[in-house]
Amino acid sequence: MKTPHSPDLVSRRAFLGQLSAAAALAMTARESRALDTPQAKKFGVVLVGLGTYSTDRLAPALRVTKHCRLTGVVTGSRSKGKKWAREYGFPEKNIFGYETMGQMAGNPDIDFVYVVTPNGLHAEHCIAAAKAGKHVICEKPMANTVAECDAIIAACRAAGVRLTVGYRLHYEPHHAELARLARENVFGAFMRMNGSNGFEMGTDDAASAAWRVNKKLAGGGPLMDMGVYVIQAACMAKVEAAPVSVTAKFGPVTRPKLFSQVEESVNWTMEFGDGAEAKCLATYAEAVSRFRAEAEHGWAQLDDPAFYYDDPVLTTSRGKVHLPNVNHQAAQLDGMAEELVAGRPSIAPGEMGRRDVTIIEAIYAAANSGQRVEVKA
Ligand code: NDP
Repeated sequence: MKTPHSPDLVSRRAFLGQLSAAAALAMTARESRALDTPQAKKFGVVLVGLGTYSTDRLAPALRVTKHCRLTGVVTGSRSKGKKWAREYGFPEKNIFGYETMGQMAGNPDIDFVYVVTPNGLHAEHCIAAAKAGKHVICEKPMANTVAECDAIIAACRAAGVRLTVGYRLHYEPHHAELARLARENVFGAFMRMNGSNGFEMGTDDAASAAWRVNKKLAGGGPLMDMGVYVIQAACMAKVEAAPVSVTAKFGPVTRPKLFSQVEESVNWTMEFGDGAEAKCLATYAEAVSRFRAEAEHGWAQLDDPAFYYDDPVLTTSRGKVHLPNVNHQAAQLDGMAEELVAGRPSIAPGEMGRRDVTIIEAIYAAANSGQRVEVKA
């Protein structure tokens, strides 16, 4: 794994280097109760849902993580689970079904349960993981509704486990630098932002498209799937402030058969308390991925592909920013492990996932009504 060198990540790693029994004890008593693994060992991670993201990104990342390893899976396919057990070297007793997630309780191989199922199933699977006493990582978007986010947060609190959201870009150096520029007010407050994220959903890729265009499983269309990254970037540029109101408009439906339940694209504007505005697009009609933020004394821009797994290009009014390129998923997993060990709050907590779903609900309400909608994040 290449080592990230953003200020945040460097300090996290330096801190971990000095890890001692005392540091491990800095965890809250409730969280440490859920930690079955001695600190000398890597954290055991179970992936829930062995689809594209688990297969192509998370599992390979868990081969190169410094502080985590894959120790089990939850899947609807026992044969797939057995194949993974052979490939990744974990025991078959650590293959679980969605209905048997409770059996993870007390299993010392498992520290984190990472939920990577369709959005509409996140709540059910996160709550099952929390009830089993395991720390929860929930993929984005956190859930279909704010009510589901609340249920996940409540279950994790009741179980005394940590809840984070799979916001990999918070652990990626170029995005972390954007956050630093905002936090340290380097160019002044970012006041004008625009961002877009999307891909052209192909009709031939029916298997992958299936749940993403199914309202019950996806919660919505590209706003849920791709738009959440733009929301994240804009809030990051506003030092994690949420917008106070939104306006929005659905784009045209060019393929009504595919997009009968969810939008094909949506444009929206987020208005922040200090008068800043972010104009945004999420789409399943074209490949696009960029973000720009302007302030009185300068600007920052993440070029296409701003939000994908490739190495992002960050340019500011001072020139191109040179930072190391990292494996996003490995940086995220190790970053979350380090936060847990240090007893630090996560930079991608469940509350942030809830904030973003609150904004998404407001955007849908605005697009459906044609009215400006207040965001009560
Ligand atoms: P896939 O469709 O490729 O995989 C989802 C997996 O979930 C399936 O393979 C299946 O695994 C399991 N599953 C359980 N119940 C169902 C069901 N009713 N319908 C379909 N699948 C089901 O999706 P992705 O891997 O692309 O996405 C999964 C999650 O990860 C989503 O929330 C998505 O937003 C997020 N994601 C995040 C990314 C990021 O960069 N952070 C990138 C891509 C996705 P099994 O066969 O093992 O039971």
